[in-house]
Amino acid sequence: MQDLELSCRCGLVKGLATSIDPAEGTRVVCYCRDCQAFAQALTQDATVLDAYGGTDIYQLPPSRLKVLQGQDRVHCLRLTEKGLYRWYAGCCNTPIGNTLSAGVPVVGLIHSFIADPTRADPTLGPVMAHVHVKSARRRLPEEITRHASLSRYVVRIVGRMLIWKLTGQGRPSPFFDATGHPVSAPRIVAPRG
Ligand SMILES: [Zn+2]
Ligand SMILES: [Zn+2]
Repeated sequence: MQDLELSCRCGLVKGLATSIDPAEGTRVVCYCRDCQAFAQALTQDATVLDAYGGTDIYQLPPSRLKVLQGQDRVHCLRLTEKGLYRWYAGCCNTPIGNTLSAGVPVVGLIHSFIADPTRADPTLGPVMAHVHVKSARRRLPEEITRHASLSRYVVRIVGRMLIWKLTGQGRPSPFFDATGHPVSAPRIVAPRG
C-alpha cells in the first residue's frame, strides 16, 4: 500500500490518494467524447489527452482521496444537467477527477492531478482497460489494447465498488458534503460542437 501525492499544475491545490495497491487494477483509459470535451472545456486537451484522445483515470473510493490544500479552488463543471460531476482546480484549470452523485462510492482520479507523473506507473500499476475506444481520435494500435480486457475490468470495478460501498468508503468525500450536496456549485458547460 502506498500513498500518491497530488497537485494541480500551479501548486495551489494539493492532495493525497491513500492506501493504493498497484494490484488493485482499477486504472483505465477513457476515450469517450465527454472526457475529451472536459479537457477541451478547460483548454487542457494538449496536456491531458493522449495521442488518441484518451484520459488516464484511476478509480478509487472518495474517502481515499484527500484535498489537503486549496479546497476552495476545487470547482465543478458538468457537460449536461445530468452529466458526471467533473472536478478541476480553478486556479490553473487542472482536471482533478470525475464523480457520479454523492451516493456512488467512486472517484475517477485524472492523471493530470498527480504531482509527479513518473510515480503513476509504479504506484497505480498498469492500465487495465481501454474504454469507449470507438470514440478515440484514431484507431488504437493493437500493442496498446492487447493486454487489456474490458470484461475483466468491468467485473473488477463493479466488485470494488460494492466493497467500497459496504465498507463505507464513499465518505467522507472531498467533493460532496455530509448531506450529499456538491461542495462547489457545478457550472454547466456544453461541449464545443
Ligand atoms: Zn492550480
Ligand atoms: Zn470518458
